[in-house]
Amino acid sequence: MIYLDHAATSPVRPEVAEVMAPFLRGERFGNASGSHRAARDARTALEEARDEVADLVGAQPGEIIFTGGGTEADNLAVLGATNAALGAFESTVAVVCSAVEHPAVLEPCRALARGAGRAPNHLQEAGSGVELRIAPVGADGVVDVDGVAELLGPDVALVSVMLANNEVGTVQPLDAIATAVRRGAERAVIHTDAVQAAAWLDLAEAARQADLVSLSAHKLGGPKGSGALVVREGTPLEPLFYGGGQERERRSGTYDVAAAVGLACALRTAARYRQIEVARVAALRNRLADAITSTVPGAVETVDRHGTLPGHCHLLFDGIEQEELLVLLDEAGVCASAGAACASGALEPSHVLTSMGLTPQVARSSVRFTLGHTTVADDVDRAAVAVRLAVGRLRA
Ligand code: PLP
Repeated sequence: MIYLDHAATSPVRPEVAEVMAPFLRGERFGNASGSHRAARDARTALEEARDEVADLVGAQPGEIIFTGGGTEADNLAVLGATNAALGAFESTVAVVCSAVEHPAVLEPCRALARGAGRAPNHLQEAGSGVELRIAPVGADGVVDVDGVAELLGPDVALVSVMLANNEVGTVQPLDAIATAVRRGAERAVIHTDAVQAAAWLDLAEAARQADLVSLSAHKLGGPKGSGALVVREGTPLEPLFYGGGQERERRSGTYDVAAAVGLACALRTAARYRQIEVARVAALRNRLADAITSTVPGAVETVDRHGTLPGHCHLLFDGIEQEELLVLLDEAGVCASAGAACASGALEPSHVLTSMGLTPQVARSSVRFTLGHTTVADDVDRAAVAVRLAVGRLRA
């Protein structure tokens, strides 16, 4: 198997499996909320993981909320910040997000605009509607900073712009956006979905302007169902889950210590090898993109590779149906993706690509290859040959 779908998920790193094992095998099994020795042992591991995650992303330990993955972190950010504003603002509040956000951000934003997703105490309040404003992106997939600025105002409660896009891999100008938001929307909370970026960028620097930062472990070689939301001190946020009051009342539910320990180890390992890995993986990505675009007529890179994460290779194949190409690649042992499969597996034309101005037909000719910590030169060389043969067969 040639696995080139790291943006969908990355295999668990051996270091991560090792540190999680005692918690999964039942050697360290305590409930971290309790007070006896088994509980204290779990609590110690949890708080060490929290300290480490905080340190690696440039936050304080009390600013980390462990979640059940990136989707939960995004929902907590969007719904939690907007619900807090609905309680504090005098009138309708506005939420701004980019057109290329992951559904884990777009859908809670849309739910709020429909009147769903609100905390019960806000449902009856007169005039407490939520208006959704979508910021445009250019043909390069980069969020238009002036376009964001035009949507700002005193009514804006939340601005959510991802640090890097999951489909085409473009890194967004978060600093410039944050500067515009601080100027044009004084009360707005800034959220960034750093789920894809975390493997490749130093979040302590890249996400420093954001009040809320979403993370997911499985994109980094950590376990699925593990993530975190960074909530900077003083950021208003209402919980999604009520219950035992864990995570300082912000996320109830028995602590998943194994998941937290796995996230910390995945982040630590990614940080340790980042410098070498960014250069190594970018070189392999370039080799793959060059090999395909130089041997397959009508194959082009969707966006300029210089503005993307190092592992992303997003290509358009003129006249080819992505679904057919992906089937042939799968037969040849190459795992790639369309980048926008919904849970049913049906391929819709990507909202990211259509927001960039591509027609639905062109969007359906795209394939995303994403490289990661396990990718080696032989993978990309064999994948490039498989792509050439598969496109040749489809054209014949
Ligand atoms: N945000 C982005 C940008 C993603 O790529 C993903 C995963 O596909 C998510 C959020 C959701 O994360 P999780 O799979 O941990 O729920």
